[in-house]
Amino acid sequence: MNEKKSADVWVFAEQRDGELHDVSLELLGKASELASQAGGAVVAVLMGHQVRELAQILVNHGAHIVFVADDPRLGQYRLLPYTHVLESLIKKHEPGTVLMGATAMGVELAPRVAARLRTGLSAHCIDLKLDEKGNLLQMVPGWGGGIVATIACPDHRPQMATVMPGAMRVLPEEEREGRIEDVSIDLPDSNMGPEVLGVERTVAGEQPLEKAEVVVAGGWGVGGKENWHLLEELARLLGGAVGATRPPVDEGWARESQMIGQSGKTVRPTLYLGIGISGVMHHIVGMDQSKHVISINSNQNADIFQASDVIVAQDFMKIVPPLISELKSRVKG
Ligand SMILES: Cc1cc2nc3c(=O)[nH]c(=O)nc-3n(C[C@H](O)[C@H](O)[C@H](O)COP(=O)(O)OP(=O)(O)OC[C@H]3O[C@@H](n4cnc5c(N)ncnc54)[C@H](O)[C@@H]3O)c2cc1C
Repeated sequence: MNEKKSADVWVFAEQRDGELHDVSLELLGKASELASQAGGAVVAVLMGHQVRELAQILVNHGAHIVFVADDPRLGQYRLLPYTHVLESLIKKHEPGTVLMGATAMGVELAPRVAARLRTGLSAHCIDLKLDEKGNLLQMVPGWGGGIVATIACPDHRPQMATVMPGAMRVLPEEEREGRIEDVSIDLPDSNMGPEVLGVERTVAGEQPLEKAEVVVAGGWGVGGKENWHLLEELARLLGGAVGATRPPVDEGWARESQMIGQSGKTVRPTLYLGIGISGVMHHIVGMDQSKHVISINSNQNADIFQASDVIVAQDFMKIVPPLISELKSRVKG
């Protein structure tokens, strides 16, 4: 192991359609902190087709070096080609730490790369620190959500982690200098898995949950799909977005992309309004950085009340429909 390079912190810079995922910029912020502590460099790996111009954005957010793998065969994300390129680069440069977003792409790619490198990986981290020996301390909510476990990987390098989107702070963007290096692609022609023949997109239009100033989140206590529209209406009137705990997602009332928590998104709105949510740690880790929290729960001992600024110990049906009527009358008035 090259001692100097082992202090380097790498970030997989996720992009789709030429747009960087916010989590990649968040990871550069954390990587800067870790690399300066370890005395290493922050390195971003950018893959895709015609994506080179994104490299300077990565530099401006803290990357000292950006490796750009630009190739038509990497234009659409595919697990095996992306794994191959990342594995080859890591084997060549031997970084000490590799970070990826806990996104749909990251949670698929990271374990595959870690397995090829015979190293450890912690998934869905909410924080990262370095100990005095350079071991990455990876904080993951665990065991029913009641604790935050700290995981280290002292015997193998690189130490790898996926990190929840929204959990880390982005460094302010400013003009910085860095090295942008094109890397040659050596992809085998065969065994590269399924080919992408076409992409169908769902219509956007809703406010992204992670960016909403107001989040109206619903839980199992909402009672059914037939009541879910109340949350959607309330969110619309407040100019916010709808989030959910896991049970409404499992039941099909809400979409997976709306789930907040350890396996979902991290939100930091100005106002989080939780409705029919008990407050299990798996959910709390995704919303506890909200500025103001209001919770409605019919159980006056609900755990979520401990993480709330305003508590409403009531059946939500007695609160939400009149609130919607009141907001509507104000909009009209
Ligand atoms: C590995 C793992 C990862 C997980 N990741 C996540 C995650 O990312 N996000 C997540 O949310 N969960 C996650 N979970 C699930 C999590 O453990 C909880 O099961 C879930 O968060 C509970 O959701 P809930 O609060 O909606 O439901 P419940 O715990 O069933 O709570 C429902 C609440 O509604 C209240 N209620 C009932 N009726 C009414 C009413 N009429 N008016 C007002 N209140 C009412 C009840 O008092 C109760 O407090 C994960 C679990 C595991 C094992």
